[in-house]
Amino acid sequence: MDPDVISDAPGECRKCGMDLVLMDMGGGMHGGQESQEGHAGHGKGAEQDFKQRFWLTLPFVLLVMALSPNIEKWLGFGVPFAGKEIVTFALGTVVFLYGGWPFFKSARGELSRKLPAMMTLVAFGIAVAYAFSVATTFLFPGESLYWEMSTLISVFLLGHWLEMRAVRGATGALTELARLIPPSAHLLRDGDAVDVGTGELKIGDRILVKPGEKIPIDGKAMAGESSVNEAMITGESKPVAKKPGDAVIGGTLNEDGSLTVEVSKVGSDTAISQIMDLVRGAQASKPRVQLVADRLAAVLFYVAVAAGIGSFIFWCFASPHGAIFAATVAVAAIVVACPHALGLAIPTVTSITSALGARNGILIKDMKGLEAARKLDYVVFDKTGTLTKGEFGVKKIIESRDNEVESHKVHKVESQDELLMLAAAVEVHSQHSIAAGIVDEAKKRGLSVPEAKDFRSFSGKGASATVDGKRVLVGNKRLLDEQEIAVSASESDETGTPAYVAIDGAFAGVIFLEDVVREESKAAIEKLHGMGIRTAMLTGDTEDVADEVGEGLGIDTVFARVLPEDKVDKVKQLQDEGHVVAMVGDGVNDAAALAQSHVGIAIGAGTDVAVQSAEIVLMRSDPLDVVKAISLSKKTNRKTVQNLAWAAGYNVFAIPIAAGILYPSFGILLRPEWAALLMSASSVIVVLNALLLRRAKLS
Ligand code: ADP
Ligand code: MG
Repeated sequence: MDPDVISDAPGECRKCGMDLVLMDMGGGMHGGQESQEGHAGHGKGAEQDFKQRFWLTLPFVLLVMALSPNIEKWLGFGVPFAGKEIVTFALGTVVFLYGGWPFFKSARGELSRKLPAMMTLVAFGIAVAYAFSVATTFLFPGESLYWEMSTLISVFLLGHWLEMRAVRGATGALTELARLIPPSAHLLRDGDAVDVGTGELKIGDRILVKPGEKIPIDGKAMAGESSVNEAMITGESKPVAKKPGDAVIGGTLNEDGSLTVEVSKVGSDTAISQIMDLVRGAQASKPRVQLVADRLAAVLFYVAVAAGIGSFIFWCFASPHGAIFAATVAVAAIVVACPHALGLAIPTVTSITSALGARNGILIKDMKGLEAARKLDYVVFDKTGTLTKGEFGVKKIIESRDNEVESHKVHKVESQDELLMLAAAVEVHSQHSIAAGIVDEAKKRGLSVPEAKDFRSFSGKGASATVDGKRVLVGNKRLLDEQEIAVSASESDETGTPAYVAIDGAFAGVIFLEDVVREESKAAIEKLHGMGIRTAMLTGDTEDVADEVGEGLGIDTVFARVLPEDKVDKVKQLQDEGHVVAMVGDGVNDAAALAQSHVGIAIGAGTDVAVQSAEIVLMRSDPLDVVKAISLSKKTNRKTVQNLAWAAGYNVFAIPIAAGILYPSFGILLRPEWAALLMSASSVIVVLNALLLRRAKLS
């Protein structure tokens, strides 16, 4: 438990994030409080409330203890005075009403939602103890349970306070993110820098970021040069060089130079806000095992009630030890059976996992996806942009003049540059990385790219447009085949990805491009194989290129010339063979496959569509992070199993002992306050165990 999580700046979102978890954990403390105030009221508020009630009731509890006949017996002396019982009653009532209040309130919430759980049990336990004590004070002679009831409440208040504090430490991901944003920025106004709040910045504002300062908001560098540490956002450990024109991200650290930045995004559009949204969503998303835990907790409620009533009846009638003894045992049994640890077992792990993931550049959008990741036995990678950098360079241009074929209708171009220029005019409008490669080459050669009209894109094939009155088509063989445009031979000895160019329905030439395989790809494939996971590659590229990349990386299965709409079928095919499949991709054309796979992983923060269809989003374009995500999944699962086993196992042992099963032979009995202590301890252990995950190294 980290003490400074308490005092540190409570950002708004932190409260929300906190609450989502807390409300679920607090055993039904959310009664439709969706408003901002409701949120604020519950996060730190509830923790403070428990703390305050604990300290304020403590003197009363101590007094009740001092006056209790049991304690006097232990100490061997007591101070008898008139009306002692009434005084004890009064003190006990204060503790019962003020200290017990939050439990009653929450119990009412649970009951009104027809989901009696933890808080109902606590309330029931202390209410039974109180009612019994009042009866002994006024109705019939006997020993009261004021002392037991008071300490019980005290322990519960303390337990909840500490637990919320621990949970808050565990759910700090959002806080950590919120803290990345510096509160103020140097706004440039008429050449002067004025400090304003980061929240006041508007799109188009120019700000100054000095060396060593954090960049307050997303924008574009306009002047200056520097290197920026973006590890907190992208997980990339090497500083990234920034020069005018480069995008910068709010929350990252400007290292050595000074930068003038033009604000490009504000508010919820900034990278940080989007990440926080994802993390918030992840923390709210429940893994499947959560359902099991919830169901178990619901069953435990009835087990607890049955244990309480059963032991009362048994000790009262079957093995008469008197009503006091029976009531004490009943209260202990109810208290000890509170399925609190069970309620915490998974949410704590979930929130630590999402924080740990975020810190490693792995954003988990849906816990169910991460949960499934440990069972993967097939990982399918998109080639372009995922295993390769997706940065195509032009290797060779062959214009039609060089390879005329008698029988073919061919459109002659004057030069390579003309071919490139026409192709670039079309590709300027395309999103594809091949298109970018062609446009870059045209720029590099200083060609002026003409305007194009009527642009059309053929997904997974190419694009076309009208340039200078000519219909220009750029794409792969499939596209030309479809348009019944014959391609001259002679390019077969070239390696690389061909982009065929046709003008007015006749072949005009071909541009060969080559992509670079990412350095990390090979290691990632090797590690996956080491984990017993098979790999596949999907690409719309030619077999030649696909096989070359596939062989170089040692990939098990290569699917080449796959149309975007068929990518999903390949994933299905593997699934039908009984594999648990992850799809890793970045593009719009991967979205369906990402959605189809058991675990969709969008890489390099991808396109919005890819991110939407994925369960896990990798901030970096590093295939090794796929391995990390699987390792995170396995670690998370291990913790979840430990916590569930502990929480369930604890009840298996504690309930019978509290019910007095060891009493007849061994004289061992769990007093209610010890039961409460044990119950709280079991919850704290679950939280602490989850916290250990924070230190985990992913590899
Ligand atoms: P991948 O993600 O594997 O690159 P795509 O489905 O995006 O697969 O593309 C498949 C193939 O279609 C590319 O390898 C390329 O040959 C061709 N292609 C797609 N778009 C274009 C384009 N704008 N210009 C030229 N060729 C393209
Ligand atoms: Mg791609």
